[in-house]
Amino acid sequence: MSDKILVIGEAKDGELRNVSFEAINAAKQLNSEGEIVAVLLGDEDLENQANDMIQYGADRAVVVQHENLKSYTSEGYGQAVMAIIDEESPNAIVAGHTSIGKDLTPKLASKLESGLVSDVVDIENEGNQIVFTRPIYSGKAFEKKIVSDGFTFITIRPNNIPALDKDESRSGDVQTKEMDITDIRTVIKDVIRKTSEGVDMSEANVVIAGGRGVRSAEGFEPLYELADVLGGAVGASRGACDAEYCDYSLQIGQTGKVITPDLYIAVGISGAIQHLAGMSNSKVIVAINKDPEANIFNIADYGIVGDLFDVVPKLIEEIKKVKE
Ligand SMILES: Cc1cc2nc3c(=O)[nH]c(=O)nc-3n(C[C@H](O)[C@H](O)[C@H](O)COP(=O)(O)OP(=O)(O)OC[C@H]3O[C@@H](n4cnc5c(N)ncnc54)[C@H](O)[C@@H]3O)c2cc1C
Repeated sequence: MSDKILVIGEAKDGELRNVSFEAINAAKQLNSEGEIVAVLLGDEDLENQANDMIQYGADRAVVVQHENLKSYTSEGYGQAVMAIIDEESPNAIVAGHTSIGKDLTPKLASKLESGLVSDVVDIENEGNQIVFTRPIYSGKAFEKKIVSDGFTFITIRPNNIPALDKDESRSGDVQTKEMDITDIRTVIKDVIRKTSEGVDMSEANVVIAGGRGVRSAEGFEPLYELADVLGGAVGASRGACDAEYCDYSLQIGQTGKVITPDLYIAVGISGAIQHLAGMSNSKVIVAINKDPEANIFNIADYGIVGDLFDVVPKLIEEIKKVKE
């Protein structure tokens, strides 16, 4: 499809998010012969991260370091990416379907009057055509799209297209670009994270989600412990968020986050359609619920009918034994 593909990497606390590496593999699937140029933006030295992008499959990297790129703003990132597009003339741009990717790519696509295929979960090559698969109707169906012509933005959903293995022997050119990033009308004075600890839910391989059945904020503590032993993150139903057992940033579903972990454990969640919209594409679903008729059991691969306050501590104990 394309001769040159830009891949926008994303860092969080100085570390590249895994979706950046997944985007490189997605770019390779667009054209295994094309050149892949990683793009990294920030206010700090990003040379190490640029080399990481290369070791995960990019051919070279372009880094823009500017004080106005400290935090994401569509104006700042937009200016930087537009300047790189002007210089590199790529055929496609791949980014994560993250808050940054979701905000930036439609704005640039509209500015450039180009296409955008968002929230891609699979890329196939069918008879010389690249076919993108993306969920629609809150994950109840999938559509396949083909880009017939022109420059295109693609965003990929985290955790669906695996990253390539890191190859430490790979090297490539890292170019640091000087540019003016001006006229930023949005000033970010402070960033206060509601969930700063632990694994990021959108990219976690394991998510333990609590519902109204957990009954209180304290009731979530065993879920954090279970997430800890499994190296996962904690999420929640809207029922639990509405009841103030946890913050809305943990909400999974139609009006919350959409996640596709390898393992999803629903604890005290009934399985309302709006909740399923956020997790039904998880690879393995386990449900713990005391009601054998709960809807969540209809999509669960494994169901445990029982009181979560008995089941979760037992699970933690057993998993710890296996890990010893
Ligand atoms: C427009 C709209 C958008 C919405 N968006 C979302 C969304 O994004 N995400 C979302 O989650 N919801 C969303 N909802 C709300 C959704 O319809 C449900 O109300 C919500 O998901 C219910 O949360 P819950 O399963 O935690 O609670 P409940 O439905 O009350 O279920 C609690 C479950 O816990 C079980 N239980 C209770 N005690 C125990 C125990 N001791 N041990 C084991 N099991 C126990 C019960 O059997 C029950 O199945 C939306 C609703 C609307 C109208």
